[in-house]
Amino acid sequence: MHRSYYCICPRCARISSRFVDKKPVCDFCGYKDVLDFSNEEKAKKLHYYKRIAELKEPFPEKDSNERTKMVEEEYREKYVYNSPVFDKDLNEKRIAYDKQREAELEEYGRKNRAEAEAEERRPKPHCPTCNSTNVKKISAGAKAVSVGLFGIFSQKVKHQFHCNNCGYEW
Ligand SMILES: [Zn+2]
Ligand SMILES: [Zn+2]
Repeated sequence: MHRSYYCICPRCARISSRFVDKKPVCDFCGYKDVLDFSNEEKAKKLHYYKRIAELKEPFPEKDSNERTKMVEEEYREKYVYNSPVFDKDLNEKRIAYDKQREAELEEYGRKNRAEAEAEERRPKPHCPTCNSTNVKKISAGAKAVSVGLFGIFSQKVKHQFHCNNCGYEW
C-alpha cells in the first residue's frame, strides 16, 4: 500500500516526503534507517505543522516556505546533528543538493507561469454562429468515439471545435 512518508535522514540531514509502498531509504545518501515522521510518529508530524504555524507570530516577515525551513532546522538540531551516524561532509553536500533542487523547482514554476500567461494572451477561437469564446477543441478521443458510433462518415470527425454555448461544431 502506497502512502506518503515524511522522513529525516540522521546521516546527511536530508528531509523529504515521498509516496511509496514501504519506508524509503534516504533519497540523497541512501541511508536505510531514516527517521519516519509520518505514521507511527503521527504526533511528531502534527507537531511539525503546528510549529510552522506557531512561527507566524514571532516572524511575520517570513513566508511559509521560510518558516518550514526554520522548523526543519529545529528538527535537525534535535534529531540529526547529535546523532552518532551524522556525517558533516555529507551534510555539506546535502545542503548544496537541496539548494540546487530548490533552484530547479523555482525555474520550473517560473516556466509554468510564463506558459500560462502566454496561453492567456493567445487569441481564443470564436464560435462562427454565436460568437461565444466558450468553445472547446474536439479531442482525438471524441473523434474516435464518433467514428465508432456513426461510422467514418460522421460529421464530427471533420470538426475541430465545439461551441459550449450553442452547440455548433465546425
Ligand atoms: Zn541521507
Ligand atoms: Zn456558438
